[in-house]
Amino acid sequence: MTPDDFRLHGHTLIDWIADYLEGVEQYPVASQVQPGDIRASLPEHPPTAAEPFANVLADLDRVVMPGITHWQHPSFMAYFPGNSSYPAILGELAAAGLGVQGMSWVTSPACTEVETLMMDWMQELLGLPERFRSTSATGGGVIHGSASEATLASILAARWRVTGGDINHTGDTTRLVAYSTSQAHSGIEKGLRIAGIGTEHLRIVPHDASFAMLPAELERLVEADVAAGLTPFWVCCTRGTTSTMAFDPVAAVGAIAQRHGLWLHVDAAMSGIGALAPEFRWINDGLEFADSYCTNPHKWMGVNFDCDLFYTADRTALLGALSILPEYLRSAAAESGKAIDYRDWQIPLGRRFRALKLWFTIRAGGADDAIAMIRRHVALTQQLADWVATDDRFQIVAPHPLNLLCVRLKAGDSATDALIERANATGRALFTRTVIDGAVACRVSIGARTTDERHVRAAWELLKELAAG
Ligand SMILES: *Cc1c(COP(=O)(O)O)cnc(C)c1O
Repeated sequence: MTPDDFRLHGHTLIDWIADYLEGVEQYPVASQVQPGDIRASLPEHPPTAAEPFANVLADLDRVVMPGITHWQHPSFMAYFPGNSSYPAILGELAAAGLGVQGMSWVTSPACTEVETLMMDWMQELLGLPERFRSTSATGGGVIHGSASEATLASILAARWRVTGGDINHTGDTTRLVAYSTSQAHSGIEKGLRIAGIGTEHLRIVPHDASFAMLPAELERLVEADVAAGLTPFWVCCTRGTTSTMAFDPVAAVGAIAQRHGLWLHVDAAMSGIGALAPEFRWINDGLEFADSYCTNPHKWMGVNFDCDLFYTADRTALLGALSILPEYLRSAAAESGKAIDYRDWQIPLGRRFRALKLWFTIRAGGADDAIAMIRRHVALTQQLADWVATDDRFQIVAPHPLNLLCVRLKAGDSATDALIERANATGRALFTRTVIDGAVACRVSIGARTTDERHVRAAWELLKELAAG
């Protein structure tokens, strides 16, 4: 591909993306293909000679599009959102154009410094504690690919701290115990497995009727473990759980964590971004106790996946756990102590210039626009809850302070399961199933950038119509 070809095809591709996003409503929300269909429509063996780009683009339409589930569709109400925006897409493109690998400051100073500034901008926009700022005495932040990666980094930092900063990682980790509720993300169990703690050393703390952790139960478990000769080291509070968007009481848990020397990680992957709006700042309650915190602009701020903000108040522990310095990565800048090498703040060595898409989004999209979108999503969720409350076949099964509503049919589990399956099969909307206190429920997650009242109304009409049949 020549530079002139690149310009030509690049313009075509930008048009293709804009046409796609403006026309996304024409597609069924979920892909309708069967496993193996997509591969079967492509040649088994790779071509060796270049083909015209137009052929590739044609196959994007012919082969790839049928296999796409449309996360940017305004009727996508499954999982949690993964919304994008035009400025963020351009930020991704700029990062690809530069093609830098920003493992160290010296490998591209701007990649590090724009990222540090974006973490500080987000600390300010979200109203997070000062001790997470890069300019604070002991804290700072970094962009990770996902909240699961942030959870693992937090576990590793906590493990390093509790084993006395053992640089060789030879400390005894077999007695360490971690805590969360059953509602916390599965990434915790995975992180504990990877960190060698083992899932048998994860204690499930009972929760209350709103699915929030019971601090007194946490303390009881911690004391029992101490009495048994074990070492409680890490507790996760979730602000906005994946199943029902429940909020663990961070301040109460934080006081217990401090008393017993546990690292407190707060996972607000989905809901944390809501704190952009001042009236939702309660999401941050208790964060002054947190040793680490994460939230995802790639869920609710229009910043394309992947973009997770990971903050810590104890960068010494994080770097203690993750820094490694082979000879070929030494630099005068790093040794001066004036430059950050983000490879020491994350699991992999290499890293993309992810900060660009955040920078583009904040500047060319505007935080005000993101706040307006968040307010709209929350208001639509409350509107939907009002509609559901007027239909006595349905039941709302969990508190819904933000943009997730969990409903079920009073007729029971199999009726609710059948409803979700039939609604999703229409392609007119997409919902996710969950199980809450042993009962099946349908999650309605409102978070696509262009979701408006008519889409929520249509989704509700769909559920009502199919509930009747
Ligand atoms: C979505 C979510 C995660 C996982 O996020 P990824 O960035 O996709 O790994 C973790 N915790 C909570 C509470 C979530 O909502």
